[in-house]
Amino acid sequence: MLIVCALLNIILMLEALFIFWPAQKVASRSIEQLESTIGDKDHAIQRLSQFTDLAADLFWETDLKGRITFLGGRILRDFARATDDLIGLMYLDVVRLHASEMAKMDDIISKLASYSGIMADFTDGNGRVFQLELSGKPKYDRAGRLNGYMGIGDDVTAKVKAQEDVRRLAEQDALTGLANRHAYSRRLDKDLSSLAGQSQQLALLAIDLDGFKGVNDTFGHDVGDRLLEMVSRRILTLIGDRAWAARLGGDEFVIVYPGINSTETAEQMAEGLNAVLAEPYQIGPAVVHVNASTGIAVAPTDASSPQRLMKCADVALYQAKAAGRGCFRVYNEDMTAASHRQKQLELRLRSALKDDLLEVVYQPIIDLETRRTTGFEALARWNDSELGIVQPRDFVKIAEGSGLVIELGEQILRRACFEAATWPRDAYGVAPRLSVNISPAQLMQNGLVNSVKRILADSRLPAKRLELEITDNLLIDDVRGAVQTLHDLAAMGIGISIDDFGTGYSSLGRLGLLPLSRLKIDKSIVHQMATDRNSLKIVRGIVSLAEDLDMAIVAEGVETERQLDLLEAAGCGEAQGFYFSPALTDEQVMVYLKRSKSDDFEPQRRTG
Ligand code: C2E
Ligand code: CA
Ligand code: CA
Repeated sequence: MLIVCALLNIILMLEALFIFWPAQKVASRSIEQLESTIGDKDHAIQRLSQFTDLAADLFWETDLKGRITFLGGRILRDFARATDDLIGLMYLDVVRLHASEMAKMDDIISKLASYSGIMADFTDGNGRVFQLELSGKPKYDRAGRLNGYMGIGDDVTAKVKAQEDVRRLAEQDALTGLANRHAYSRRLDKDLSSLAGQSQQLALLAIDLDGFKGVNDTFGHDVGDRLLEMVSRRILTLIGDRAWAARLGGDEFVIVYPGINSTETAEQMAEGLNAVLAEPYQIGPAVVHVNASTGIAVAPTDASSPQRLMKCADVALYQAKAAGRGCFRVYNEDMTAASHRQKQLELRLRSALKDDLLEVVYQPIIDLETRRTTGFEALARWNDSELGIVQPRDFVKIAEGSGLVIELGEQILRRACFEAATWPRDAYGVAPRLSVNISPAQLMQNGLVNSVKRILADSRLPAKRLELEITDNLLIDDVRGAVQTLHDLAAMGIGISIDDFGTGYSSLGRLGLLPLSRLKIDKSIVHQMATDRNSLKIVRGIVSLAEDLDMAIVAEGVETERQLDLLEAAGCGEAQGFYFSPALTDEQVMVYLKRSKSDDFEPQRRTG
């Protein structure tokens, strides 16, 4: 009982010593008490060494030269060697200060000050590393002469690890495990500052998925989330340990590629990236297609601050998006002005779409044999109150680059279908066809079929009166996603025509596999026909092949009688162009169709 009491006493006193550390008054009183309880100090320490294990993780004393004179504590319990081996070694060799603490320690010792909260590592005999938080104070002999330092070390290994975990979690994007925005700026900052004085460059690749919103809308957010995970995994696989990646939110990713010697290296990465990200994603029963647009900026050439660099990459990204799906662009200074103009256009277009200010006009398509108007091509028109008339090619491009294209396409299609549904039948009791241009991004959009279905149901336009015009280059670089959509649309009874035929790369043989009803010969070929024998041959070739494939032919941009004669001679079935009529407003179409019932009406002759 007595022994237990004595032990308890000692432990309590030791605790007093450590808890109030480095409050010197309390500590020195404790030592005095200790000494008076146990006798002389050496003896006290010897006895205490058995109990320090219980009281502190590490307890140490050094002499004036910093050599260890005593070492004890919990963390030494499993020490492989005898702790006696450590006696006499330099304290700072055994307990290794973190690099950031060295200068602090020099300062403390030179002032003979007390200290606490100094971080150090201690490796036990088994190679286990402990993170210690050290406290220490000078110690004096009975005569009051300084004779070394003494102190404790708290094992904070678990705490530090927990803190690191928390930090890692706080810096990680929960969905993809990539660095989040916060970690990204911290790390980019660091990477950029280590560029100083080096010849190497750092590339920032800003990546944005085309059509991601459509995926969320069509398949739901779970599929969207899975897609983002798969995208980040593909990114990680591609970059390996050459670069690191972050997700800044939504479908915005960045890759930081340090240590490159030329921009080309980054371009190669962007190229590879676009290729791997464009591969289809199997998510449950859904097959999802997306493309990535990438903007590249290089430090220090384009900018050396993180904010400026990101801005440059964003400008380049904007240009990449404007150039179409799956492109990358490298920043250059001219882009800034161009992107400013485009941003302004985008802003105005957004508000025009919101207020439904876009209009649609319709250009008649004429059957060359009967001279009857068999259909109309819907063409979008935008006359902005600030910007004036904006060409459809320009705003469609802007819409494609900014994700507005789905909305634009839907609005035009909806408007055209509603208007066409009210058109009267012609003199022969036939209601004319309606052709609507569909941009590549729209066709890539996963929800096009449903959107068309909805619009047809709402407008009550029969599917067989609708034809969608697509461009052929689309079918070359992304066959899988687009082709299924085309089959679905064709199965509904909707006609599909290939626009601008002859300017792309596709061969008729290839197109023969698709459910196409019409080919539209590009106006550039029509215009060359009169002067270039070759284009005449091309038209003849297209016509005969199309006949074999059971497709109708429309020549566009017919302006002169001569062009018309040549087209007729080549066997072309239908045509449109200023020679017959410009595009007409909805009201004009009504009048046009009513007049077509009277006998003296000649749509095929346009005067003036
Ligand atoms: P496109 O599909 O090839 O449309 C034909 C273009 O040729 C139209 O230009 C039309 O006004 C013009 N045109 C008609 N007859 C003649 C002619 O005799 N000679 C000449 N030189 N041109 C003629 P527009 O309306 O400026 O449209 C340009 C392009 O913008 C269209 O080319 C189409 O690719 C796109 N576009 C227009 N409306 C839409 C739309 O609603 N959606 C989509 N995605 N694209 C559209
Ligand atoms: Ca067209
Ligand atoms: Ca065309």
